[in-house]
Amino acid sequence: MELKLKTPWRDGTTHLVMSPLEFMQRLAALVPRPRLHLIRFHGVLAPNAKLRALVVPQGPEQPGRSTEVATGTECEAEHIQGRPGRISWARLLKRVFDIDMQHCPNCGGGELKIIAAILERPVIEKILEHLGLQPRAPQDAPMPPDAAAQAWFIDDYATARADFLKRGDVLASAFARVERFAIPVSSRDGTSGLFVDGLYIPAQGGQKRRLIVVSSGVHGVEGPTGSAVQRLFMQEALTAQQLAGPLADTGVLLLHAVNPWGFAQYRRFTENNVDLNRNASADAALYRTVNAGYPLVDPLVNPDQPADVSAVEHRFFHLRVVSMIAQHGMRALRQAVLQGQYQVPKGIYFGGQALEPQLAALGPQIVPILNAYPLSLSLDLHTGYGARGTLHLFFDPPKNPRARQGLEMAFAGQRIDWASGDDFYTLTGDFVGWLSQLRSGTSRRRSSTGP
Ligand SMILES: [Zn+2]
Repeated sequence: MELKLKTPWRDGTTHLVMSPLEFMQRLAALVPRPRLHLIRFHGVLAPNAKLRALVVPQGPEQPGRSTEVATGTECEAEHIQGRPGRISWARLLKRVFDIDMQHCPNCGGGELKIIAAILERPVIEKILEHLGLQPRAPQDAPMPPDAAAQAWFIDDYATARADFLKRGDVLASAFARVERFAIPVSSRDGTSGLFVDGLYIPAQGGQKRRLIVVSSGVHGVEGPTGSAVQRLFMQEALTAQQLAGPLADTGVLLLHAVNPWGFAQYRRFTENNVDLNRNASADAALYRTVNAGYPLVDPLVNPDQPADVSAVEHRFFHLRVVSMIAQHGMRALRQAVLQGQYQVPKGIYFGGQALEPQLAALGPQIVPILNAYPLSLSLDLHTGYGARGTLHLFFDPPKNPRARQGLEMAFAGQRIDWASGDDFYTLTGDFVGWLSQLRSGTSRRRSSTGP
């Protein structure tokens, strides 16, 4: 394709040579995009001209203070007349968030008409009560504080750790062959003195039959509670009477503050934004897991800018949530958020791209202990999930029905969930599952239930 120029360029070019495709590209660039005005106005007719309002016909009279809701037909009329004075909320919702408030969600076809907008709280409450719905969001039952229990809580990581170590000293001098270790955790933000502390008391009676592992602070901010339970356990259960009697064939391994940085900073995740209860695996294939639902919910649960409550999109946040629940179902969304994801390092419930350093160091340390016992029970202490103010156990159902019976007997009177129920979800890379991988020496992939 050869194009002859009307006037030659300064450098003497008289012709342009193009392939047919290049020529079409240049032609296509000249085509205006859809719905672009093809007529340009100048002078008094220009869009911002001061006198424009005096020379062009005006739209319909603006209504005074219009009601919150306008029906579809009003809008159509506005469109025919020209630029609408305002667009109804229903139409805005449809346009911006694709929430259709004008058609019946049940039959699809019927057009909905807004009869009234009810804004007064007492009236709303009356209607909801009449329909048998709760007029207010449910509130947690108040829990009276228990002073004796509260005495065990230490919010401050360094103080909690010091108390754990002090109690460890006492146990180490009271019992035989006690092993202790401290895995240092480095921090970029200058927080020092961070350690995952271990205390292992081997079965004192000679025969190693059972092992109890109790871990705390896998989610850092949940550490104060886990640490309190561990220290209470050290005082109440790890006595000479117990360890020489009922626990004579039982070893005890305590892991204190598995995420010490999060404990110190009151954060769930590690400094690398990794959720250790999604990160723990002996199989690197975990970090290639694709959570197909996560990209859908990420923009909603993890906005890339600070939330501005005056911004339009945030004023509609609850509507967007409701619309998503309606589209995908609560269960699918909960699963997408909570199972863990390995795609978005700045997202929530990020499981990392490799084993976090403290777990990589902890593994070899505890493998010999885990493997010295034929039977083990691992309790990982959390506060982020389950019934409030009480012990709530979440177990993966053991394959052996007798093991299940045993757990039910051991924790009789306590609330136990066996990976069932409506609000249950599965997760990958959980800490207790990793302990069982280390114990069996397999890297079998598993999914589990839990916090
Ligand atoms: Zn947790």
